[in-house]
Amino acid sequence: QKQIKLAKRPIGTPVMEDFAFIDAPIGTPSNGEVLVRTIYISVDPYLRGRMQDVKSYIPPFQLNEVITSGVIGQVVDSKSELFAKGDVIIGNLGWQEYSIAKEKEIRKIDPKQAPVTANLSIIGLTGLTAYFGLLDIGQPKAGETVVVSGAAGAVGATVGQIAKIKGTRVVGIAGTDEKCRYLINELGFDAAINYKKEDVPSALENACPNGIDIYFDNVGGSISDAVFPLLNKYARIPICGAISSYNNVNIDMGPRVQTYLIKTSALMKGFTLGDYSNRFKEGGAALAAWLNEGKLKYEETITEGFDHIIDAFLDLFKGANIGKSLVKVADI
Ligand code: NDP
Repeated sequence: QKQIKLAKRPIGTPVMEDFAFIDAPIGTPSNGEVLVRTIYISVDPYLRGRMQDVKSYIPPFQLNEVITSGVIGQVVDSKSELFAKGDVIIGNLGWQEYSIAKEKEIRKIDPKQAPVTANLSIIGLTGLTAYFGLLDIGQPKAGETVVVSGAAGAVGATVGQIAKIKGTRVVGIAGTDEKCRYLINELGFDAAINYKKEDVPSALENACPNGIDIYFDNVGGSISDAVFPLLNKYARIPICGAISSYNNVNIDMGPRVQTYLIKTSALMKGFTLGDYSNRFKEGGAALAAWLNEGKLKYEETITEGFDHIIDAFLDLFKGANIGKSLVKVADI
């Protein structure tokens, strides 16, 4: 079987040579383990951070170790009483065609409840990130203005829709006209700004005549700089991601925005989804209910084939995806 290992720690934007495709034996499960055939692999911006040897909220990948991320797979051999051949499971597993998984590393998902990929997107970790970051830190109230960056991505698109459910005015910032049209026409955003084409400060001023009450930040950098002067009194700023700096060799130290936070008594708060692990049931149920009621839509960009996992990962930094980026490795 094929596996992908981290061959070198990327410097700046990762390149193909940072990864090694290996041919390895499949192995057989021991007691309490199952053999899983990989079906879908999630590629996520945070994996870039794990490729550096720095202390973070999760340990870095080791060199010559198989890279891991969210995986949906199917049990093909079981030495566990909890899982049977044919079960569809989810877990944090390797970038490889087959994995030996321990019982506690995986959980069953029900293919009848929702399309299986939704477990890696709208009702999975990215949906939950949007839910808790916006509702717990953002605390949206009807009539307020919410700005979200990275708006057409997996997290951002969900944030905007939940913010609409809460009765706010929603402005998205994204990197193409197609994404901006999608946000307005498909997801019901009130306005969208193409940051690659428009002057973001003046476009934001036009789109937010009553100022900004919540800024859900997925990207950081100059896009965020344009938001701060428009913050209203008691604005809330959930800091979810900073993808614009993930490939920077020199860390841009900050924040440079203190005076805006002081003037407005704004709250800027970083978080990781793990902060809310004891509330995943609540978040998952709310997302599933909105999905079933037709109040939430989601898009997935699915790249076909194990050999294209690295392309799909690198595409995140080029903005090639709309919604959640996944790689399909095999059929169920
Ligand atoms: P996305 O689906 O949003 O994919 C990444 C998107 O980021 C791209 O499509 C691209 O869209 C945009 N982007 C890439 N480079 C830049 C840049 N230099 N400046 C501005 N935008 C850029 O990924 P996710 O929804 O999975 O993640 C979104 C953010 O949330 C990431 O920063 C991620 O690290 C973070 N995150 C944080 C979590 C937490 O627990 N705190 C959990 C999950 C995600 P465009 O065309 O618009 O440029």
